[in-house]
Amino acid sequence: MDDERRVIEPGAVAIAGDRIAAVGTPAELREMRAKRTVDAAGMAITPGFIDCHNHMFQLIARGLGEGMALWPWLASFMWPLSIQIRPEEAVAAARLASVESVRAGFTAVTDNHYAPTDADTTLAVAGALETVGLRGVVARGMMGEPTAVARKGGLAGEMFRYSADEELDITRACMQARPPGSRVAVWPAPENVIYCDQDLIRRSVELARDLGTGWHTHCSEVRTDPEYYLEFYGIRPVEWLAREGLLGRGATIAHGIFLDDSEVEAIGSTATGIAYCPASHQYIAIGVMRLRDLRRAGAVVGLGTDGASGHRQDPFEQMKMAVLLQRVHSLDPTAATAEEALELATREGARYLGIDAGQIAAGRLADLAVIDLQRPHLTPRLRTVSALVYSATPADVVMTIVGGEVVYEDGACTRVDEAEVMAEAQARAGDLVRRAGLEALREPWRRTPALPA
Ligand SMILES: [Zn+2]
Repeated sequence: MDDERRVIEPGAVAIAGDRIAAVGTPAELREMRAKRTVDAAGMAITPGFIDCHNHMFQLIARGLGEGMALWPWLASFMWPLSIQIRPEEAVAAARLASVESVRAGFTAVTDNHYAPTDADTTLAVAGALETVGLRGVVARGMMGEPTAVARKGGLAGEMFRYSADEELDITRACMQARPPGSRVAVWPAPENVIYCDQDLIRRSVELARDLGTGWHTHCSEVRTDPEYYLEFYGIRPVEWLAREGLLGRGATIAHGIFLDDSEVEAIGSTATGIAYCPASHQYIAIGVMRLRDLRRAGAVVGLGTDGASGHRQDPFEQMKMAVLLQRVHSLDPTAATAEEALELATREGARYLGIDAGQIAAGRLADLAVIDLQRPHLTPRLRTVSALVYSATPADVVMTIVGGEVVYEDGACTRVDEAEVMAEAQARAGDLVRRAGLEALREPWRRTPALPA
C-alpha cells in the first residue's frame, strides 16, 4: 500500500521502535539484526486496518433493533439505551469492541462516543481503547439544544441534556487531557449536521481548529436529511458546510450518501473525509454512497463499522461489501475494485484520521496486520489482493502490531484478559436492556412480516 502499490512476494518488514525501518524481500533484509524475528511464511502482512466510524458503546446491545428505519431505530432503540447507559457499561462495551477490533487486524479507530458524554466517561472510553492497544480518536458526540428538525424527526428528548456552552466546555477539557499526538486523542463531534444547531457545528469546528485536531459528524445519511434541511434552512446541508468554510482538512463526515453533484464537488475539492459504512448502510437500508464520484472529485474515503448497525468489527466484511454494494447498485462489475477496497481500509483511512500509517513503507508507523493465508478458503494463493478482500475473515488474522508493539498474537490479546472482557460485557448487557425498557426487542424469534404464518 505504498505510493507504488508494490506487492512484494515473498516480503519482509523490519521494525525499529514504533516505526517501519525497512521493507523488501527476505534476502534484502537478511543482514538486519532483530531482537525478535517472526516467521510469516504463507502469510500476508498488510498495513493495520483503519475503522473510520464506530460507536463502540452501542455494541453492548448488538443484535437488537431489527428491521427499523434509521430515525425510529434511534428514537425507539438506540437513544433509550443511550439515556440509560452507565459509565462502567460504556467502558465495558469499548473494551469489548477494542478486543474484537485488534483481533480482526484493526489498528486505529474513530469511536464516535455519545453516551454518556460527561468528561470522565469520555476519557475512560479513550483509556479503554488505549488499554487494549488501539490507536485513534474518541470523537465526543454533542447534541446541544434540540432544533426544529430534531423535533420534526421525533428525536427531541433527554439526549439533548447539555447546552451548547456546556458541550463545548466538556469537549475542550477532554481534548486538553488527550491532545493531538496522543495514542487516542479526543475530537469534537457535533452529532449530526441535520439535527444539531448550526451554531454548535460552527463552534465545534472553531474548537478543533483552535486545538489543532480533526472533527467528526454525521451528514446526509438518509434520504430525508437534505429534504428536512432544505425545508428548515433553505439550503442543502453540505452546501451550508461549504458556504461556512467548514469543509476541508480535519473535517470527517460519516455516511454522506445523499449528495447532489455540487456537494460531491465541494467535498472533493476540499479533500474532506467521508466514512463509508457498507454493512450498516445495508442493514438499515439507507442507501448507496457515490463512491466513485466522491473519490474522483478528491474526497478522502475510508471504511467504518458503525456500531450496533454494523454488528462486527470486521475489516474484511467491510471491504467486500464496499465493493459488492457499488457493483449491484450500478449493475456494473467495474464500479469498484478489490484494490480500491484495500486502499480505503488502509492508506485512505490513515489520511482521514491524519495519522502517519496505512502504508508499509520505511518511516511510517509500524501498524500492521499479519494474516495467515494457509487456510482452505484462501487456497490456492494466486492473487493475494483478491484473497484478502473477498475470502479472508478476522479469524485468519494471527498478529496485530500497533506502533511496533504486538497487541494480538496467536488467538489472544497481549494486554488484556479477553475472557474477563467478554464476561463483563455479557453480565452488564442484560441489566442495561432491562433498565432501558427494551426487553421486548429480545424476542427469540421474530416472525417475518408479510409472510403467511
Ligand atoms: Zn454513526
